[in-house]
Amino acid sequence: MTGLMLSDDLEAFRATIQEFAREVIAPVIGERYERGEFPVDLVSALADLGLFGLPFPEEVGGGGGDLLAFGVALEEIARIDSSMAITLEAAVSLGATPIHRFGSDDQKRRWLPDLLAGRSLGAFGLTEPGGGSDAGATATSAVLRGSDWLLNGEKCFITNAGTVLTAFVVVTAVTGPGEGGRREISALLIPTGTAGLHVGSQYSKVGWRCSDTHPVALVDCAVPLDHLVGVRGRGYAQFLSILDEGRIAIAALATGLAQGCVDEAVRYAKEREAFGRPIGGHQGLAFQIADMEARAHTSRLAWRDAALRVRAGLSYKREAAIAKLVSSEAAMDNARAATQVFGGYGFMNEYPVARFYRDAKVLEIGEGTSEVQRMLIARDLGLS
Ligand SMILES: Cc1cc2nc3c(=O)[nH]c(=O)nc-3n(C[C@H](O)[C@H](O)[C@H](O)COP(=O)(O)OP(=O)(O)OC[C@H]3O[C@@H](n4cnc5c(N)ncnc54)[C@H](O)[C@@H]3O)c2cc1C
Repeated sequence: MTGLMLSDDLEAFRATIQEFAREVIAPVIGERYERGEFPVDLVSALADLGLFGLPFPEEVGGGGGDLLAFGVALEEIARIDSSMAITLEAAVSLGATPIHRFGSDDQKRRWLPDLLAGRSLGAFGLTEPGGGSDAGATATSAVLRGSDWLLNGEKCFITNAGTVLTAFVVVTAVTGPGEGGRREISALLIPTGTAGLHVGSQYSKVGWRCSDTHPVALVDCAVPLDHLVGVRGRGYAQFLSILDEGRIAIAALATGLAQGCVDEAVRYAKEREAFGRPIGGHQGLAFQIADMEARAHTSRLAWRDAALRVRAGLSYKREAAIAKLVSSEAAMDNARAATQVFGGYGFMNEYPVARFYRDAKVLEIGEGTSEVQRMLIARDLGLS
């Protein structure tokens, strides 16, 4: 790797994923998206490429890559479709990473092989109906009852919670009063099928329509003591550290969407004619597309920089928040501009730009809203 340029190996990998996304995902995704279907076959195809294990060490059955390689894959997939990219991102960053990073040896043995092979998916339940940004205010509780934790509470908007491949949901819950008046929050793993775990109906979403998202209710749901993930009382802190890295992955995904908008806009602007020439020949429109390319490019620099800081063992919290902030806003701006380039056709669901438009908004919300990113950046500057 020279600066922010990819090494030859990573560039070849990028080209492979780009080809896969164009040849395997692009031809079928529009129809699936309209039906709001979770495409198990495409998940298997991503698994065959080794993407679910990519950023994990080879010793645990992973691909030996890192966040940079994972981001490259997410960017190329999201350049074609964000539903598939978020399914992969959530499975890796929110499903497998907590087990790999904080799980006991038993938990790793039991869950990691299938998660890293993409044969099963884990979900991550932090957000509750009462609030997501202030996730430390969780109302879900877990009390000790004999040799079990007894959980009660509700989680909402949980990605990959209800697929046929879902193996478990890890949730944060208050497990005690804690020190200094702060409540003790821990993470607990609830296997699919556990009595008292109720996965509600799939939400009807504006975008990410092939991604699986459900509310989850816990009603006297008992799991054995050894289903605690990581250290008792560190559940919230564990999740926050995972979200810092997840933000870089989401930034890569957002960059892909922003670049996909450029791809579509450039192609269409060369084909479509108005006032006797291709619309791209009108400077007013060409400048809009130039701005789109500038936004996609700077987003890429931002997420790669954050990923390289992780690789180098440097602090990356601020850079991850900046990458998430600028790339999600770039995705939203590019989706709006690409739709404008397409005119009336941009408003028709059969065109990818309409899908990009529907998928872009959630990037400014999920895994920390834009306001939360600004809060993190301001805090890091010693401001609030
Ligand atoms: C499709 C989808 C998938 C998701 N997947 C998951 C998942 O797998 N697991 C999971 O746990 N969660 C998931 N989420 C939840 C997501 O992370 C939350 O929606 C997000 O964190 C915001 O929380 P909220 O919706 O409760 O909004 P709120 O926290 O209620 O915020 C509402 C508004 O207030 C603003 N706000 C809040 N506090 C402040 C402040 N201090 N200063 C300024 N503005 C503020 C917010 O930025 C936002 O604009 C998903 C959400 C969606 C839409």
